[in-house]
Amino acid sequence: MTVAGNGSELAIEGIVGKADFTGRTMEQINENKEESFGRWAIKIQNISKSFEVRGKERIEAIKDINLWIEPGEFVCLVGPSGCGKSTLLNIIAGLEQPDSGTVESCPVNGDGCAPQGNRLLIFQESALFPWLTVFDNVAYGLKLRHTPKEKCEQLVHSYLELVGLSHFKKAYIHQLSGGMKQRVALARALVLDPEILLMDEPFAALDIKTRKDMYQLLLKIWKETGKTILFITHNVDEALILSSRVVVMSSRPGLIKREYRMEMGYPRMVESAPMQKIRCEILQAFIDHPASEVQGGLSDETVDE
Ligand code: ADP
Ligand code: MG
Repeated sequence: MTVAGNGSELAIEGIVGKADFTGRTMEQINENKEESFGRWAIKIQNISKSFEVRGKERIEAIKDINLWIEPGEFVCLVGPSGCGKSTLLNIIAGLEQPDSGTVESCPVNGDGCAPQGNRLLIFQESALFPWLTVFDNVAYGLKLRHTPKEKCEQLVHSYLELVGLSHFKKAYIHQLSGGMKQRVALARALVLDPEILLMDEPFAALDIKTRKDMYQLLLKIWKETGKTILFITHNVDEALILSSRVVVMSSRPGLIKREYRMEMGYPRMVESAPMQKIRCEILQAFIDHPASEVQGGLSDETVDE
C-alpha cells in the first residue's frame, strides 16, 4: 500500500467513462443478479429482522433484504432515519442475529468463505478508548492479535500518516476534534487490514467543512487500498459524492427500493444536472413512502452540501 500525505488533497483519478443515471428497481436487479455479480465480497440474502416493542407488538425493521457487493465496490446505502440501516449493518457485522436470511463474505480470491473478522464496523460516534493515546488506540487490535512490537509500531505509524495524524500520536482522545476522532477510528480499523469496511453514518456529527475533508480522505484510502466499503447514511448528497453504487432504502419495513451505478469520476458536483436528477428521484422515493419518520430523515444535512 502507498502511504500518502496529510489527506488534504483529493488524490483520485477521474474514472472517465459512461454514467449510468437511469437507476434500476430491485426487480430489474434481481433478474440478472448472477450475471452482474460474478465475484462478490459480501452476499446478503433474504435478511429480515423484527423487534418487539413494549413487550407486545413487533415492528418489522427490515424485510427480505438482498444485496450483493463486489470486491472493491464503494456502496452507499441511503435511507431515511429509522428505515433499518443500522440494523442491517449490525447483522452484517455479526453484532446482531437476523430472524431469517444469511450473510456470507469471501476473500477477494473467492476461495471459500472468510470469517467475520474480515468485516470491521466504524460507528457514527467513534467508540475510542479515552484512557489510551491516539497511538495506543490504533495499536489496540494489533496487540490483541499479538503482532510483534516492531511490526505493530511500523503499521501504526503508517496508518497515522495515512489519516494525517502523525503529530497527534501522543494525544488523548478528549484533546481531539470530531474529525480527528473519526480519523483515529479509520486508522484503527484499517490497521487490521479488513477486506470490508462497514461504516454507520461515521460523519453525521461533523460540520460541513470537516465532513468534506473526510470525504476526500476516505476516497483516497479507498483508491489506495482497494477495500470494499459499505457506508450507510441518511444524507443523499454524501451518497452521491462518495459511492460507486447508491442503494436506496425505504422504511416500515426497511426495503431496498432502487439502485444507481455511479460510473463517473471524482470529484463530483452534486449541483450538476444528472446528479440533481438522481437526487430528486431518491428524495422522492423517501417521501413517497407513508412512514412518519421520513421527513425527520431529511434533515438539513441532505441539502447543505
Ligand atoms: P436507522 O439506522 O435507519 O435509523 P435502525 O436500524 O436504527 O434505523 O432502526 C430501525 C427500526 O428498528 C426503528 O424503528 C427502531 O426503532 C427499531 N429498532 C432498532 N433496534 C431496536 C431494538 N434493539 N429494539 C427495538 N427496536 C429497535
Ligand atoms: Mg442508524
